[in-house]
Amino acid sequence: MQTHEIRRRFLNHFVAAGHTEVPSASLILNDPNLLFVNAGMVQFVPYFLGAQTPPFVRATSVQKCVRTLDIENVGITTRHNTFFQMAGNFSFGDYFKRDAIAFAWSLLTNSIEDGGYGFDPERLWATAYLDDDEAISLWKEIARLPDERIQKRGMADNYWSMGIPGPCGPCSEIYYDRGPEFGADGGPEADEDRYIEIWNLVFMQNERGQGTSKDNFEILGPLPKQNIDTGMGVERVAFLLQNVANVYETDLVRPVITKAEEVTGRTYGVDHQDDIRFRVIADHARTAAMLIVDGVNPGNDGRGYVLRRLLRRIVRSAKLLGADQPTMGALMTVVRDEMSPSYPELATNFERIENVAVGEETAFRNTLTSGSKLFENAADAVKTKGGNVIGGTEAFALHDTYGFPIDLTLEMAAEAGLTVDEDGFRSLMAEQRKRAKEDAQSRKHAHADLSVYKELVDRGPTEFTGFSELTTEANVL
Ligand code: ATP
Ligand code: MG
Ligand code: MG
Ligand code: MG
Repeated sequence: MQTHEIRRRFLNHFVAAGHTEVPSASLILNDPNLLFVNAGMVQFVPYFLGAQTPPFVRATSVQKCVRTLDIENVGITTRHNTFFQMAGNFSFGDYFKRDAIAFAWSLLTNSIEDGGYGFDPERLWATAYLDDDEAISLWKEIARLPDERIQKRGMADNYWSMGIPGPCGPCSEIYYDRGPEFGADGGPEADEDRYIEIWNLVFMQNERGQGTSKDNFEILGPLPKQNIDTGMGVERVAFLLQNVANVYETDLVRPVITKAEEVTGRTYGVDHQDDIRFRVIADHARTAAMLIVDGVNPGNDGRGYVLRRLLRRIVRSAKLLGADQPTMGALMTVVRDEMSPSYPELATNFERIENVAVGEETAFRNTLTSGSKLFENAADAVKTKGGNVIGGTEAFALHDTYGFPIDLTLEMAAEAGLTVDEDGFRSLMAEQRKRAKEDAQSRKHAHADLSVYKELVDRGPTEFTGFSELTTEANVL
């Protein structure tokens, strides 16, 4: 089943059950503390907090999400994109656990002919908060899940809050077992690359008091109105239904890899390191296009820095795959062609997307050329002295002045028969990061009086990371 179809079926399923279809919000909300929208519920926060009255009691959406916290996972795990689509259904004081579980279960397991996804129910698992007897018995009753496929987990995994006083509650997640060839038995707790998380159902039922962290806070009495917030990963469902190896090989992402093969001359599926680079290129090209179309420009901090980092990682990965010509224009064209049926703005704004992405590529390629000269001088100096180690200071200068990522320096050093003083490099980086953090800390205090939902710092089990992502280390490329 194609990704566009997976989206469509989700919305149809919930519209048929009385939900209002709400379009995705932009990735960028007018909120300095939220880097990017990273969950479907973000646009509904004022309703959940009771600050506004929703015009409907049931809603459904497919929300564009960007999670920069997952950037290091890209290409390495089977399931993390930096841009992905979170499909969700929401109840504002209307239905609760029983219907939320029943709606999710029927969409997942109804046959393809009946408008569902046709998952084999025998391969599905659920998790529940350990004290949530109600959810546990509903999973047994509605889904007919046996005890051994309901995993009970504690606060850290299965209890949700916004990190501030407000609604909170237990959650249940649905996982798909890819089979013993993909990892150890034992359910999601044993292996999250064999058991793939596809859907998170949050049951907001209590009031949260003060607390010190996402798994240590006071749970007060019941909420006057109970809410439902769910999020299903569209790319994850595509990965599983299309029977491919990971989220990067699905119908909308794999064509970018194919284009990257064409422009670099290497083949996907031959070398492990190369494959990671191909997946990084495909993932990041898509995220960059979606960010540019929502108004982000490359820059040196905040959102602009994230975009710059993504674009540079594409250029670097292509270079490490042997590309000596620019590749960005060709990659962006494929992203547009694949994604525009769901996001027509990619086609109507293509010229800008291309200009911004290619502009950054050109600048970074020039930087790489100048950096390479500095590298060669440093390498020559080391060799002349009869040594074989490039100093941490030189590696740091390459990074700081030319934006040279350390693995590029390492790779170039290896090609020249040298090594790099990585410890020295890392301690210089740590010093710089500490300075940046102190800097960010003082900026953060300046925002302390922003309205309440801007202060959300964690989303518990659902990793509501966006609110803490603004101060990510600005120097790790
Ligand atoms: P994981 O544990 O796999 O990192 P998560 O628990 O962080 O996922 P949630 O915050 O619960 O994810 O988000 C709801 C759903 O969104 C997940 O069940 C998953 O299907 C999807 N999802 C989350 N992060 C990603 C991602 N980086 N790429 C693709 N889909 C994702
Ligand atoms: Mg989750
Ligand atoms: Mg999870
Ligand atoms: Mg996660």
